[in-house]
This record gives sequence, structure tokens and C-alpha cells, in this order.
Amino acid sequence: MSAARAILKPRHAKPFFAQHPWVFPGAIARLEGDPADGADVALITSEGQFVAHGLYNSQSKIRIRLYSWNELEVLDETLFRARLTRALGLRRDVLRLGGPRQACRLVFSEADGLSGLVVDQYDRWLAVQFTSLALAQRQDILVNLLRELTQPLGIYLRTERGIGQLEGLQQHDGLLGGEVPETPIEIDDAGLKIRVHLTQGQKTGFYLDQRDNRLRAASFAPGRRVLDAFCYTGGFALQAAKAGAESVLALDVSQPALQLAQENADLNGLASIRFEKADVFDRMGELVRANEAFGLVILDPPKFARAAHDVDNALRAYRQLIALALRLLEPDGMLVMCCCSGLIAHEMLLGVLAQASSEVKRPLQILEVRGASADHPVLVSCPETQYLKCVLARAW
Ligand code: SAH
Repeated sequence: MSAARAILKPRHAKPFFAQHPWVFPGAIARLEGDPADGADVALITSEGQFVAHGLYNSQSKIRIRLYSWNELEVLDETLFRARLTRALGLRRDVLRLGGPRQACRLVFSEADGLSGLVVDQYDRWLAVQFTSLALAQRQDILVNLLRELTQPLGIYLRTERGIGQLEGLQQHDGLLGGEVPETPIEIDDAGLKIRVHLTQGQKTGFYLDQRDNRLRAASFAPGRRVLDAFCYTGGFALQAAKAGAESVLALDVSQPALQLAQENADLNGLASIRFEKADVFDRMGELVRANEAFGLVILDPPKFARAAHDVDNALRAYRQLIALALRLLEPDGMLVMCCCSGLIAHEMLLGVLAQASSEVKRPLQILEVRGASADHPVLVSCPETQYLKCVLARAW
């Protein structure tokens, strides 16, 4: 049981009884027991009632991350083992992901009751990210459990940009156990051979969250000219080409990503894709001026809003992109618009789609709104876990 206690301000307990796992400083009246960063604290109402057990970090805006609402539970190896086992069970037994050569997200932070831990499986290797100081301090316990429960050939630590500043966590990418190839490995993602660099590149190597959205987007590709803006290593472009697109133009600013994308196209015998190194905003503008037209435009930009003060600029950027896409789409052309900023709610994205539609004077019909693949579940008590939005629409 936690030695230290965090006492909430009066009338501030409701979200935490509702099991939201993040306690911000504004909700806390005082601390008792002087917890060190990463230490256990019990969250207590102003009337002295127990709410939850969490882990404290004075250096993070998320001052306490909550893990258990059971007063008798302890945040120890037993609890972490149970959480990991449950997370693995979902992917293996329910979703039937993570077989030989496959890749999937095994642990998704808050959505798996493990705020601050992300684990991706690529064939027989694991990529691990710590996004909280407290779980990074428990790295040895967690890595040992992962080794025991999944028996990987190697485990590699990937660090997220900006995490040092957000959490006071100083970490460097590196091997945590076993061996990990320095050269790209080959996985099978939804029927495509994909090369993934486990020790370099973005995220943990591949955007696993878009697996099902790529297939859905590709269902509109047959016979159409496709533009895959922000293609990274080719995820959407490859599925579109495989599905029978007439041609695919795929853009990205990252040369290493484009190189891997071209290798992936070659590996799958997909010759209809042209990869170009370009800034999407500039290049789409050029394509508009050149009167180019596409039957399917896929926009999957990086996270434009990392903090609340970025949201307005991010919305402007999304609006600009959608307007460019609408100027490039043929009559009745299809738009696939993705947004991975957790801070931009679904309604905000719909607002931006409406603005762009009226700006370009083209009605836009939303056919479907999707999220991330099921190995990135959404925890209902933590709406921020629903970060990925993917809107499928048709422009008249
Ligand atoms: N659709 C991809 C993932 C895209 S991630 C997939 O399915 O795997 C976002 C990508 O946008 C990154 O590869 C990044 O290099 C690229 N990017 C960011 N800003 C860009 C810009 N202004 N122009 C072109 N590419 C950009």
C-alpha cells in the first residue's frame, strides 16, 4: 500500500472516481509523505476517502498516473504481470494478431492499464517505449516480465521525441536484451511484405495503428489515380497499388523513409507507385496549379498538435491540406483524412472538413469514420486514448 498520499481539492474527485488515469497539479490540494519522483501515492478525497493508487512525478504535468482503484492492491510486479498478461491475451487470443512475421501493438499505455508503457511486436522482436518516468524506473521488472511472457529474440528501447522535457526522463535508444538486427527486418502486414527498421525511423518503426484503415482506403483505389501524401514507408500507397490503383504518387520529406518505401514496393512487385521527396503543402499546391487530378487522396500527416497551444495552428494546417485535396480530387473523388492528434477531437476535425468544403465549394459526404486498429484499444474512461481519427469522404 502506498506510503505517501495526495489529497484532492474539494469537488475535484469525480474524474478520478470515473477512472480517468491522469491527475494534473490543479486538482491536488497537498501531498503528505514527501513522495520521490516515481514513488507510489494514494489519491484521497478532501473528505479522506480512498480513490486510487498511482505513481507520482513532480516533473510532469501528469503529476500522478493512476493504475488501481482497489485500495488493497499494490503497484508491484504482480499487478504488472496481470496487466501484461491481459494485454497479450487480447492481441493473441481475441484479435489473433502477432503470429510469426506479423507485427502488432502488444501494450498500449492507458488503454491497457499501463499508463506510460508501449510495446510493439515485430515478428520475434519487441520495441519498447516508456512515456512515463515512473514506469521507466521500473524498466527491469517490466522488461523481465516481457521476456518471460513473450520470449522474444531481442528487445529494443525506442525513445519518444520530447519525452525528456515532458517527464524529466533521460533515455537513449538501445538494446534492452537479446539481439536486434541493425538492418531492416521483413514483416507481413495485412498481406504485404514490409521492411521495418527496428533501431531507426519513426515511432517504433512502422505505423501499426493504420493497418485496417490502409485496407479500407485501398478498397477505393481500383482504377483510380491515387495521391498518398505523407507516405512514410509506403503503408497506404502499397495497399492502394496492390488493390489495383491506376497509378500512385506518394510524397514524404524523409529520404530514409522513401528509400524503405521504394524497397517495399520492389519487394511486393508493385511498379505503379512513384515516390517523391517533397513537402506536401508545396507539392500539392504545384499539382493544383498544373491541373493534376486524382480519384483518391490520402492525407496522413504527422501529429500537428502536441500541446494545447498548438491546436489553432494545427487546425489551420489540416484545413489547408483538406482544401488542397479538394482542389485535386476528380468529381466524386474519395478523400481519406487521418488525424493522429489526441488533442483534436472528432468534432473539431468535422468542423475543419466543413470549412474546407465551403472554401472550395465542393460538397463533401462523410461515408465512414474510423479509429485505430483494435490492437490500439480505446479506454472509455480516458478519451485521449482515441487519438486516431480516419474519415472516409466523397467530394462531389
Ligand atoms: N501514412 C504513413 C505514416 C505517415 S507518418 C503510413 O501509413 O505508414 C507522417 C509522415 O509525414 C512522416 O513520414 C514524415 O516524414 C512526413 N512529413 C511530415 N511533414 C511533412 C511535410 N510537410 N511534407 C511531406 N512529408 C511530411
